[in-house]
Amino acid sequence: MCGLCLPHCPTFNRLGTESHSPRGRIALARALEQKPALADDRSVREALESCLQCRACESICPAHVQYGAIIEGARAQLAKARAPSVESRALIFASEHAALSAHALGVAGGLVRALRVPGKRARLLAMAQTPIPLSASSDASALLFVGCVSRSFESSAQSDLLAVARSLKLDLVAAKQQACCGAIQRHLGDSHGAQMAANANRERFASMHTRTIVSMDSGCIQALRQSMEAPTEVVEACQWLLRFEAQWTQALPEFQPPQRIGIFTPCTHRGLGNESGAVSALLGRISKLEVIPITAGFGCCGSAGPHLLAHPDAANAYAAPIIDQIRRLKLDAVVTTNVGCAVHLRERIAAAGLHRHRPPHTELPIKHPVAFLTAALGLKRS
Ligand code: SF4
Ligand code: SF4
Repeated sequence: MCGLCLPHCPTFNRLGTESHSPRGRIALARALEQKPALADDRSVREALESCLQCRACESICPAHVQYGAIIEGARAQLAKARAPSVESRALIFASEHAALSAHALGVAGGLVRALRVPGKRARLLAMAQTPIPLSASSDASALLFVGCVSRSFESSAQSDLLAVARSLKLDLVAAKQQACCGAIQRHLGDSHGAQMAANANRERFASMHTRTIVSMDSGCIQALRQSMEAPTEVVEACQWLLRFEAQWTQALPEFQPPQRIGIFTPCTHRGLGNESGAVSALLGRISKLEVIPITAGFGCCGSAGPHLLAHPDAANAYAAPIIDQIRRLKLDAVVTTNVGCAVHLRERIAAAGLHRHRPPHTELPIKHPVAFLTAALGLKRS
């Protein structure tokens, strides 16, 4: 009840009400447990469903209150009381059938691009690409975790990382034996689905040779770490590449074109603790990249798993100060390490008409940091 977490909560920062703070939501979750009929109360639902599940409050709490588990329990109770929305059902289906949905999204994205379908949802879908092929190999020393949504929305970044690994002769494969991390199910209050995804991954990875899982998405990393057991480690991609920096720094050509890069650190990446420095460390090794942190906003871009689809206006309000700062910084690119943030901010950048500061003044790109290493090393994707 100390309230120390309140200034770290994006929803409290934006809305300023106790019911939109971690402390208020804990009180509501307790009340809901005692009186399940409260699930039908509109203001209770709204307060609990508007939580972005960034868990900034949990990281800062001096009493180590397990807020993540509390909100997951409350969301599960809300989910029991009401039939899931069309978006929720579609997202759960997509995460449970990761391979099928990745290919379907890739085809749908191509169609939307070709037909130039207007509207925000169409602009989001247009970013889906053909997923990378997965390998039948199960004896590599490191596995690239491809996720469900990321598989189609971040396939170029995944391809970049595999290209870097190949050039450095690192044994990294995107193996077929993997399921969704379960983060989307947790957001939607489907704790059974999240547990099934965690069990599937734990069993599949235990049968493989690999003990290192490399993920490019901070949201997946949080969820995977909750489900994996030692000795299997889940490593963020930039952190993993820094383990081999002696190999790639000597392969970097002397001349690199100067670029001004803004780093947007997702709230899920901040939640990984001191690991968030790996992105600027990696970019900092590539000479001529000027790296600037993007710090504006309420503490979250508003993407937050299914929040972007369920509450598009609120998601835009969370992104607005971030887009303003990006505009003021006069950048050549933005980097981020979460697929949800990348898709949301890319759409907001397009809607705001932001362009690269330097020629050719094309639309300001938002990329995964690994893309800069691939480009600096002059590598071709597969
Ligand atoms: S969750 Fe932790 S930091 Fe927040 S009010 Fe409770 S005890 Fe204080
Ligand atoms: S998880 Fe994030 S949005 Fe939800 S209460 Fe905690 S800090 Fe606020």
